[in-house]
Amino acid sequence: EPPPGCPPDVEQLGRATWTFLHTTAAYYPDKPTPKQRANMLSLLHALPILYPCTWCAQDFGEDMGKHSPDVSSRTALSRWLCERHNEVNKKLGKETFDCNKVDERWKDGPADGSCD
Ligand code: FAD
Repeated sequence: EPPPGCPPDVEQLGRATWTFLHTTAAYYPDKPTPKQRANMLSLLHALPILYPCTWCAQDFGEDMGKHSPDVSSRTALSRWLCERHNEVNKKLGKETFDCNKVDERWKDGPADGSCD
C-alpha cells in the first residue's frame, strides 16, 4: 500500500473505480430514459479506451465485446457489472462475489444495520 498522497497503484485505482461503477449502477434508474441509457453506454464503452491500466482496459474491452452492457434497468445493469467484475476476479484468482448481494454491498448495507 503506497503512503497517503501517492499516485494510485493498479489495486487502489481498481477499488476506486469499482466503487464508482457499482455505486453508479446501484442508483441508476429502474426505468432509464433514452438519454440516461445512452450516457451509461458511453461511460462503459469509454473504459476500454481510457482506463489508465492498459492490460486491464484491453481485457475488459474483450469481455465487454462478448457480453454487451445491459443498461435497460438498475437491476440489469447492477447484475451485468457484477458479472464483469467477477470475470476480473477470476482472472486475478480472487473469490467471485454473489451477485444476489450486490444491493446489500453497494446500496442498502447489511440487514443487521452495522453500516447505518
Ligand atoms: P476489488 O476487486 O477492487 O473489489 C472491491 C470490493 O468490491 C470488494 O471488496 C467487494 O466487496 C466488492 N466486490 C468484489 N467483487 C464484486 C462483484 N463481482 N460485484 C460487486 N462487488 C464486488 N487488476 C489487475 O491486476 N489486472 C487487471 O487486468 C485488472 N483489470 C481491471 C479492470 C477494471 C475495469 C477495473 C475497474 C479494475 C481492474 N483491476 C485489475 C483491479 C482489480 O479488479 C481490483 O480492483 C484490485 O485488484 C483490488 O482488489 P480488491 O481485492 O481490493 O477488491
